[in-house]
Amino acid sequence: MKKHNFSAGPCILPESVLQKASEAVINFNNDNLSLIEISHRSQSFVNVIEKARSLALELLGLENKGYKALFLQGGASMQFLMTAYNLLNKKAAYLNTGTWSSKAIKEAKLFGDLIEVASSKDKGFNYIPKNYEVPGDIDYFHCTSNNTIYGTQMKSFPETSAPLICDMSSDIFSRQLDFSKFDLIYAGAQKNMGPAGATLVVVKEDVLGKVTRQIPSMLNYQLYIEKESMFNTPPVFSVYVSMLTLEWLKDLGGIEFIEKVNKQKSALLYNEIDRNPLFNGVVNKEDRSHMNATFTLANENLKEKFDTLWKEANINGLHGHRSVGGYRASMYNALPLYSVQALVDVMQELERIA
Ligand code: PMP
Repeated sequence: MKKHNFSAGPCILPESVLQKASEAVINFNNDNLSLIEISHRSQSFVNVIEKARSLALELLGLENKGYKALFLQGGASMQFLMTAYNLLNKKAAYLNTGTWSSKAIKEAKLFGDLIEVASSKDKGFNYIPKNYEVPGDIDYFHCTSNNTIYGTQMKSFPETSAPLICDMSSDIFSRQLDFSKFDLIYAGAQKNMGPAGATLVVVKEDVLGKVTRQIPSMLNYQLYIEKESMFNTPPVFSVYVSMLTLEWLKDLGGIEFIEKVNKQKSALLYNEIDRNPLFNGVVNKEDRSHMNATFTLANENLKEKFDTLWKEANINGLHGHRSVGGYRASMYNALPLYSVQALVDVMQELERIA
């Protein structure tokens, strides 16, 4: 039986997607060729990447609004510097909510002055700062919508006249937002979309072309727009699986549908964390992530027992990030509600036998 997969990323993908993807590796489109041995410029693959790009915009409600969707390489980490390379002239403002925001700040500092408008580092990134001021004279404001490692999630975004850039790597396509508030969104594929290798960038075209520096071709959004994500060979398998996952999501009822399921899953787990005296939630309740729930054992002596129980229950990927320890249950779009129930059952079993 397939394991209940709570891995933080790469992570669970829909079974039907894995099935179709594995068939395409052997025989794509009944052409008697593998998806990964045909030219990326063949009509068969061009259709795939065009569909993936248009589905991304459709699901986010950003069609015909001046946005382009691109599939790039280098992971979300490449976007830490690419956003700054393409958009930072003099000064940018960043909200620091964890490891990934800190890494984005480090890279952007190479390109201009950075203002850290607020940081939750003082409390081990266990909350989302509020009531900070975003200065007016900046090239853009950057934030991380969901903090994969700590398990916090931004529930609202600041009103600012500056372009809004967001790293949505770990919660894209999981909840409804007014995505048209954002001027650039990026996300590594390996959470809610597909295998590692591709990064989705959704950019409003009119924020580009405003920096004076020369931008190397491989880092230039404008060039990828002109070449329709085909400046060089794209990561074909990752793009194909992303297309399948986006189709799966659309067929289910899109973000509106999956958000309801995601809320059910996270409510089930957080209710148990709050009810069960053996467990403690790690982050501020109002900032809890619907994707990554972090928790600890009230009594570390139960660690061995708990770890044995969840492993016996066919659960995978529950250890917290190596930098913070504890436990982290990642409940991405493809994780079924019954997997969360299996985890809750184990937590209750521990309470019974402890
Ligand atoms: N941002 C966030 C929010 C992430 O969770 C991650 C990876 N877990 C990254 C950026 C870095 O992504 P990548 O490994 O694709 O560079």
